[in-house]
Parts: sequence; structure tokens; C-alpha cells
Amino acid sequence: MAHQDRSGAAGMPLIVVDRNGVEIPVPAGDDPSAFAEQHGHQALIRCLNHPTVPAVDCTTCVPLED
Ligand SMILES: [Zn+2]
Repeated sequence: MAHQDRSGAAGMPLIVVDRNGVEIPVPAGDDPSAFAEQHGHQALIRCLNHPTVPAVDCTTCVPLED
């Protein structure tokens, strides 16, 4: 069964991270979503301002509530 929950991310830059949140380089020509799925990683939308981190983890752009 294909995952459909990423359909809204089409065209967005994706970052692939492992379970520890470490970026995994995607081989040239590979689809990030497919690569992540094949290797048990996560494909997340990359922060537009901070390309080394996923947008959801970017505490610079999305400050934690304090
Ligand atoms: Zn950011």
C-alpha cells in the first residue's frame, strides 16, 4: 500500500533523516521519498531557510513555546 500522506509535499525540497534525525544523503537521481521508505528513514520537508534541518525540527524558524 502506498503512503499517500506525503502527496501535499510534491515539489517541496525534502531532507531524508534516520531515526536519530541525522541527514542521510540521497543518491543522485533517487526520489527522496522512495529512498527513505526503502531504507527505513524519514523524508521530511526541508527548512527553506536552514537546508540542513527538517522544517518541523527547525527551532530557529519555529521557536519552542516557553
Ligand atoms: Zn529554519
